[in-house]
Amino acid sequence: CYILAVETSCDETSASVVKNGSEVLSNIISSQIDTHRAFGGVVPEVASRKHVEVITLIMEEALEKAGVTPDELSAVAVTQGPGLVGALLVGVVAAKSFAFALGKPLIATHHIAGHIYANRLVRELRYPCVALVVSGGHTELVLMEREGHFRLIGRTRDDAVGEAYDKVARAIGFPYPGGPFVDKAALESPAAEELPRVWLEPDSYDFSFSGLKSAVLNLVNRSKMKGETPDYGAIARGFQESVIEVLVEKAIRAVRSTSAEQLLLCGGVAANKGLRAALTERCGREGVELIIPPLAYCTDNAAMIGAAAYLKWQTGEYANLSLKADPGLSLEAWSVE
Ligand code: ATP
Ligand code: MG
Ligand code: FE
Repeated sequence: CYILAVETSCDETSASVVKNGSEVLSNIISSQIDTHRAFGGVVPEVASRKHVEVITLIMEEALEKAGVTPDELSAVAVTQGPGLVGALLVGVVAAKSFAFALGKPLIATHHIAGHIYANRLVRELRYPCVALVVSGGHTELVLMEREGHFRLIGRTRDDAVGEAYDKVARAIGFPYPGGPFVDKAALESPAAEELPRVWLEPDSYDFSFSGLKSAVLNLVNRSKMKGETPDYGAIARGFQESVIEVLVEKAIRAVRSTSAEQLLLCGGVAANKGLRAALTERCGREGVELIIPPLAYCTDNAAMIGAAAYLKWQTGEYANLSLKADPGLSLEAWSVE
């Protein structure tokens, strides 16, 4: 089975050919980060226009690099949501046209199912398993009792982790997206600010990061008002330590209480060096099997979409030409039948 997958949910235009849901034959990514950096964040209208400019080329390049002809494709898959509606629309229209012209099945795919299935590109999944999703727009604990079945057991009540990272980075003065800069500053700082950990109710798997973010902004502003230069390294390290402690603790508790076989880390913040190291150490100590995708499959890419789409190829759940981009698409509802 050869799936051509397309991803345009935010500011990466990507296309990939994935064989049997697990073998990446090509994964072409065109990032718009340099364009959006000047604005300090993603500008939706600009993102859509950039996707339109490159999408056809990126799809052709993915096929060429994979050495697969359009005729040999089994299906065309695309991210239907969640994401920016105008950005999603470009991928959906491109994938629809391509599938229709070739007479191939079309598979509507969920962006977060994609992030989770990036782990399938590393190793076979065993069930039940728990996924810790940490990205720019999501912070969730997802239980998969069987293949292709998603149940949300925890979610953020305010900011997503990536969002908090980017806001803290902006206060420090790092360029967008600031997550990787905060990560680096945190690991290099000899000192750490003491910042709060937000656990919520004792048995809750939910998260809250807006209080922590505000605590960071207050520290920065208080120093500046006193005419001092804030110790940005110590602030970054204190922030990162708080985030990691809560994420690791709740993920391990979710694994224990569901008797999960594996813990999967995914989403853009899964690229965080401190988080990868802390989870690896903790899982090693507790004998929990952990999968972490390589960096290229953590941030947005189409290979992960091809891996998730394979679920629906197996069950034959195809979309038709009335498919519409859905910025609020539900992960649980996307579960296979
Ligand atoms: P979603 O997947 O929820 O729709 P998104 O697709 O915009 O959101 P991703 O591309 O998955 O998000 O992840 C981008 C986020 O990851 C940004 O917030 C970025 O700052 C963060 N990020 C990337 N690398 C790191 C890192 N090393 N440390 C912390 N955060 C990071
Ligand atoms: Mg992105
Ligand atoms: Fe994403």
